[in-house]
Amino acid sequence: MSATSLIFSPALMISLLAAPSAPKAGASSSASPQAAQLQMAERLVGPALTEGHAWARLTELTDTIGPRLSGSESAEAAVQWALRSFKADGVKAWTEPVKVPHWIRGEEHGELLASERFRGKSLQIMALGGSAPTPPEGITAEVVEVSSLEELAALGDRVKGRVVLFSHDMKVPEDYGKFAGLRGRGPSAAAKAGAVGVLVRSLATASLSTPHTGATGFAEGIKPIPSASVTVEDALLLHRLLASGGPVRVRLVLGCKELPEADSFNVVAEVKGREKPEEIVLIGAHLDSWDVGSGAHDDGAGVVMVMEAARLIARQKPAPRRTVRVVLFMNEENGLRGAKAYADAHAAELPRHVAALEMDSGGGRPLGVQLRAGEGGSELVRPWLAPLTALGAATLLSSEAGGADLSPLVPAQVPMFSVRTDASRYFDYHHTHADTLDKVEPEALAQSTAAVAWMTYAMAEMPSLLVRPAAPSKAPSLVAPPSQVHPTAPAAPVVGAPKTPGP
Ligand SMILES: [Zn+2]
Repeated sequence: MSATSLIFSPALMISLLAAPSAPKAGASSSASPQAAQLQMAERLVGPALTEGHAWARLTELTDTIGPRLSGSESAEAAVQWALRSFKADGVKAWTEPVKVPHWIRGEEHGELLASERFRGKSLQIMALGGSAPTPPEGITAEVVEVSSLEELAALGDRVKGRVVLFSHDMKVPEDYGKFAGLRGRGPSAAAKAGAVGVLVRSLATASLSTPHTGATGFAEGIKPIPSASVTVEDALLLHRLLASGGPVRVRLVLGCKELPEADSFNVVAEVKGREKPEEIVLIGAHLDSWDVGSGAHDDGAGVVMVMEAARLIARQKPAPRRTVRVVLFMNEENGLRGAKAYADAHAAELPRHVAALEMDSGGGRPLGVQLRAGEGGSELVRPWLAPLTALGAATLLSSEAGGADLSPLVPAQVPMFSVRTDASRYFDYHHTHADTLDKVEPEALAQSTAAVAWMTYAMAEMPSLLVRPAAPSKAPSLVAPPSQVHPTAPAAPVVGAPKTPGP
């Protein structure tokens, strides 16, 4: 069945057109501002819901290009695909250079070694990006388990020569921010303490024996050690065997490799504003993915949402007041090099970046709108939310907009906005072989795409600018574990959530 037939909902369109409340001023048209706003909403939200274009694009990206880790041939293929796609959409696009790390996965396996207490078995593991390899024969060592960096520090010399198992009890998406530091900084801390290897329990909200990879980093002067994620199931088994007393030994073989840095690109595209083309509304997502699965939720979904927003806005006459600029960032997952390269290359323009959005929490349905702006932001944005009512997203959420690729824009006080998506299943698949197209629901993707298209238009069209947020007291850390999705806000009130049109 085509995505289009799943998505189209006449009832939704009727309620969209009947949406109450509109801004006092807005779209330039001979009609009243309110009518003009509703007409524009119909022309953006309608096609996003009914044409299935974002879904078709996501299918192309995931099925014909697949996983696209920085430095790989497929990452380069994704760059070319994005350029071709923008061209086909009538949106002017170009590349901007980015030097990226080039880490590759090799052979990898883990083994719980038999003892007098238990039989041996294989362990489901996956090297963390940035891990060192083991020697070809692997490393064999006793496991010591900790659940925090403080616990690791307290062990002192007892870490020497061991494989450190970082355990935690991630249950819900909100836990990701709480435990991602174990993956990001744990291996470096363990290496410093003399460990020979690291296993990190996968950062997952569900598991069918699926390891979840992700980036790790080693501090200056610390020699990287072999570091892998292990499935929730195997981490719990190791935990039980350790808790019942006696040594637990594992063998790890990791064939990963750090190659010389590679040349790559951000893809940038633009729809020029009609009245204030020098003012830029940036909408971004990351084009790279991990090297497993096909990066469908992370972040193919975000990529096609912002591309589709640009395609739909580009075909409107008149164009919105300000310029809409799409940035498909390279290397969010294991370096944020694209984000830094963009901020450096466009430093002089950042004061004219009047709003920025990053979509990087998967292809779930929209829950509401997030902002990060100075005083009065909510009042400015609220009159533009009406067209999101039928999508169940006409709510300003208390959580702040942001994103890893936008973090270099924070010191420049760029206001931020976002459409928060339902990420309740996101961490079931995140960074695994299972992050594939079949996990994305076409209806949800279309609804979030519609919300992104409309909010982008609103930001580019609203008469006044968002007040810039206060400068942070210290520069944000750009080397923190990347791919941070922090759906940290409490469950949002959802107004008028639509029933998913079923087949
Ligand atoms: Zn991501």
